[in-house]
Amino acid sequence: MLVASIARKTLNLKRHRIRKVVEANGSIEIHLVPSKRSSLVCSGCGRRCPGYDTRKQRRWKHVPLWGIPVVLVYAPRRVQCPQCGVVMEQIPWSKGKSPLTIALSMVLATWARQIAWKVVASFYGFHWNTVRKAVKDVVNYGLAHRDIGDLLYIGVDEISRRRGHIYHTQVYDLVEKRLLWSEEGRTKVTLREFFVSIGPEQCRRIRAICCDMWAPYIDTIKEMLPKVHLVFDKFHIVQHLGKAVDTVRKEEAARLKAESPELLKKTRYIWLKNPVNLTENQRLRLSDLEKLNLKVNRAYLLKEAFRTFWDHTSPLAARMHLDQWFWWATHSRLQPMREFAWMIRRHQDHILNYFKVPIDNGAVEGLNNKAKVISHRAYGYRSAETFTLALLHGMGKLPEPPLTHRFV
Ligand SMILES: [Zn+2]
Repeated sequence: MLVASIARKTLNLKRHRIRKVVEANGSIEIHLVPSKRSSLVCSGCGRRCPGYDTRKQRRWKHVPLWGIPVVLVYAPRRVQCPQCGVVMEQIPWSKGKSPLTIALSMVLATWARQIAWKVVASFYGFHWNTVRKAVKDVVNYGLAHRDIGDLLYIGVDEISRRRGHIYHTQVYDLVEKRLLWSEEGRTKVTLREFFVSIGPEQCRRIRAICCDMWAPYIDTIKEMLPKVHLVFDKFHIVQHLGKAVDTVRKEEAARLKAESPELLKKTRYIWLKNPVNLTENQRLRLSDLEKLNLKVNRAYLLKEAFRTFWDHTSPLAARMHLDQWFWWATHSRLQPMREFAWMIRRHQDHILNYFKVPIDNGAVEGLNNKAKVISHRAYGYRSAETFTLALLHGMGKLPEPPLTHRFV
């Protein structure tokens, strides 16, 4: 029969054969049995072993055919393995206790990376939860088989879900540009969990960690990896500086509201942007504003003077630049700029580490945008666990279970 023959080929059956294919309850049921000729294989070590007993019949959802659900029906055998003892046989279409075949998990998970999980589910006539299980199977396989033997530079960052109400701590491999780990929370305990999960030996191999000036992360890194180079992320520092400039603008706009309400309107990005990226109109507006003795203009000049800080190649020159800038900023009589300057001074050693180990979370920025897309696609990721699954699936660069037939 043709269906049986296609099933045999696409499932790559070797030690099992199809006993019958029947139509039952609107599904195609494929009933399998062990083929007598060859012995079974141990799921623990992969060696051939004699059978021990037969377990209760199980059913697996498989890839639908012509829109008709397909179910595999098989009573798994246990084997007597000289090394592992009495264990379950290796079933080529199945992994662990999952009610989905590996092929179906791959099909659903492949689509779930591109479109909303709800849409995937409705296309294939499954429940949303089936798609979730599929992604979980594929991610678990990937986590068990990925290679994290050479983590050298990692980035720690946070993202939020549910409109910023819940934070997740993200750990990235900065060399491979992949997400390694994600968990709800942004406390000391959250990040500690990551280091515990990779083990002390792996921790010792990490050379440098890039993160924001967030005290709980800093504490945990110092506690768990006392010898690592901690580098504060330059993009976060620039962001903090931008916020300080913007605060100066807002305060000044409020003060000038009565006499010239239009003066600083819509100038936010003019002060924040890199001058080479300004549009012609913004450039003209800026050159007009520069003629006035505005506080925000002084803040802007301070911000621009900080920009070249990152171009230094020697730690000594960078240090001198910082000292000079600190003096200027703290004498600027602009409170937000002074606060920023003091923050920089407090964290100076780890900022200057950048000139020893020039890493930044720039790659992470792109990945975080991707994370936002993933979280939009999956609106309805209510639980932290599902959110983490979706992120690892989309950004973990995880290895996938091998299939002999491509179903999608
Ligand atoms: Zn074995």
